[in-house]
Amino acid sequence: MGIRRPRTETTTRTTPAGVEYLVNKNGFPVVHCGRCGGSGDYSFNPMDGTTCFGCHGSAFQTPAGLPSQLATEWSNAVRAAKQVNTAAYWSPVTREITCEVQVGDQVAHHGDKEWSTVAGVRITRRITGSAFVGLNPDGSPTLHTLTLESWLTYADGRRERGGYLLRRRPDVAALHALRDDLAARARAAYEERLDRKVRAHR
Ligand SMILES: [Zn+2]
Repeated sequence: MGIRRPRTETTTRTTPAGVEYLVNKNGFPVVHCGRCGGSGDYSFNPMDGTTCFGCHGSAFQTPAGLPSQLATEWSNAVRAAKQVNTAAYWSPVTREITCEVQVGDQVAHHGDKEWSTVAGVRITRRITGSAFVGLNPDGSPTLHTLTLESWLTYADGRRERGGYLLRRRPDVAALHALRDDLAARARAAYEERLDRKVRAHR
């Protein structure tokens, strides 16, 4: 079965010329899906059931042209931010090197579906010195402090003493700023289009 998206939540906005239109929760203009007419359902097929493939069941689409391009830019940025950007070794005992894991990092074990947010890092035993873990682009060695024993506490209260973890560090503030900028540009382009139509009919 195709993935069915939840129905888009919308709010109403008004252009300078007084035309009402809808925006999604990220502030991008949306219109009712032209294929299903805004129901999210279309005729049954064995792949997707009745989920409309014009909107994947969300009932809305982004208006074509610049608004759509900017919305795509936003979803690409979100996808990029969700990419794993660093592998972190987290060792409770002696065998492996612990790379720096910081409060706020999101970590997961291989195969996990969910990421956990690190709320606390407690190092219970540390040795001084460094270990060679790789080469920098300029040929110099990357060194990391060795940690012998440490605990992670997650935002949901779980604690963990070790394992091989993947780490990612989304810059949430930068993402929000990008979203707001792209959405504002998408609305401006769409409002201009709507108002041009209104003026043409006056
Ligand atoms: Zn549709």
